[in-house]
Amino acid sequence: MGRYVRVQAFTMLYSRVADRKKMTSAGNCTIPGCFCECPGPTDGFLYNLYYFERADVKEIISRVGILNVFDIYHACQNVPSNLGQEFNHPSYGLTFIQNRGNYNLTYPDERRTMFMLISLAKYEDGENLVDVTYSESKLDRGLGRTNDYLIPATWLEESEVPRIGTIGLTYSVDIFANILPRARKDLGFEFLTHKECIADV
Ligand SMILES: [Zn+2]
Repeated sequence: MGRYVRVQAFTMLYSRVADRKKMTSAGNCTIPGCFCECPGPTDGFLYNLYYFERADVKEIISRVGILNVFDIYHACQNVPSNLGQEFNHPSYGLTFIQNRGNYNLTYPDERRTMFMLISLAKYEDGENLVDVTYSESKLDRGLGRTNDYLIPATWLEESEVPRIGTIGLTYSVDIFANILPRARKDLGFEFLTHKECIADV
């Protein structure tokens, strides 16, 4: 199937798919207790590069909006998903895929996705929001780009998140034990129209 057809088919049909978490998984999940139920290399769909190329996924996201297809179960970099950036780790000489995102707060869906991630950081231990940039930070504007913008605690109220500028952040979890699959599942229900799917009904 050609690329264009694949993008068109996904764009037309995604809203009909009841099992959103599988549709937006990357497969290859190694997180203990993860609710994605996609441990195999051919599991998952949208973020499984076995089925879609990065360019296709970017096109799909631009058409349907990130909130419709965000993979909250693999928000951290432990399982590559959400089209994170590839980068070479200087110490190991390996290519990692880091689940970094840029969220334009002018757009309601990107703003809400960013809010979902800072909500997740509230539950999971460790320093989860790393290399944070904010285009409207006085420090950023005055002294060039910095990557240590501290998201104000007031932003934990969604109404307090500004409607201007772009936040860039990497959601990070150092060890598997800090991942709370249940919290991710709950956020999927609250923000991403996930729901329980009953097979063979
Ligand atoms: Zn998973």
